[in-house]
Amino acid sequence: MKIDLHTHTFYSDGHLSPAELVMRAHQMQVDVLAITDHDTTQALAEARAYQATQNRPLQIISGIELTTRWHGFDIHILGLNFDDQHPSLASHLALQEQTRIDRAQQMCDKLAKAGIEGVFEEAMKRVGQGQITRAHIAQVLLDRGAVSSFQSAFTRYIGKDKRAYVNAKWIDIATAVEWIHAAGGVAAIAHPGSYDMKSKWLRKLLVEFSACGGDGMEVTHPNMQATKKALLAKLAVEYNLKAVVGSDFHFPSRWTELGKRLDISPELTPIWSDWSQTASLNKEMG
Ligand code: AMP
Ligand code: MN
Ligand code: MN
Ligand code: MN
Repeated sequence: MKIDLHTHTFYSDGHLSPAELVMRAHQMQVDVLAITDHDTTQALAEARAYQATQNRPLQIISGIELTTRWHGFDIHILGLNFDDQHPSLASHLALQEQTRIDRAQQMCDKLAKAGIEGVFEEAMKRVGQGQITRAHIAQVLLDRGAVSSFQSAFTRYIGKDKRAYVNAKWIDIATAVEWIHAAGGVAAIAHPGSYDMKSKWLRKLLVEFSACGGDGMEVTHPNMQATKKALLAKLAVEYNLKAVVGSDFHFPSRWTELGKRLDISPELTPIWSDWSQTASLNKEMG
């Protein structure tokens, strides 16, 4: 069974439409796919509608990547397998959307002070109906020639604590877990190895996340090194967190692909082990 629980569409900073993502999941022989756009579930209905017209089976799991704030870090929390029509969810997500818009505006005000004007309007045009992210702002900066690469938009302007960075009023991790649980889903720390924090802080994050009822953590990624994988597996066992696997796919590239190299160590408990959608599928990963 091939499972990928962390993917994006153009409703946040992915490049593919929901239908194109589903098409690609078919090409890559993925059996179970969660779509986890930043702070929105907008892609789900279109993905499901497209899948319903296809002959190849694919289980589509509801998902989201919620942005939270914890001790000065932006921590991403994946919500999986919840009722995306749950009545409380829409108003909660409207709050996150407003935070995204306000933060983008403030970042662009800072960019204007640095002599780069009109970025907000241009970025919002690219966003269309989805959620604005720093990736949209980075793309505008690159297209303008204000930076020499996508990456340098972050290292020069909008990365953590750089000159156009803004500390946004994101929800805290307990609130994210609460929202996801209220809608019947499970919550997991996304890419725990990517927060540029010392091991002591990562452990503190996992302890606090567990204490507020968090269910799992990501333990692998298509291009993760074996030593890092082993470390994350050890932490998941130690803190009794279930394993989440995902490619964090945004667009086709050399570095990542849907469902690629997402096998996990047998000592871990997969977060999907009790999901009805995976019950009939072969438990073997690969
Ligand atoms: P946001 O959620 O608006 O803060 O935007 C975060 C998104 O921007 C991430 O999900 C990545 O897709 C992208 N991103 C963040 N930091 C970097 C970076 N240093 N280089 C490239 N992309 C990044
Ligand atoms: Mn992203
Ligand atoms: Mn993320
Ligand atoms: Mn992601």
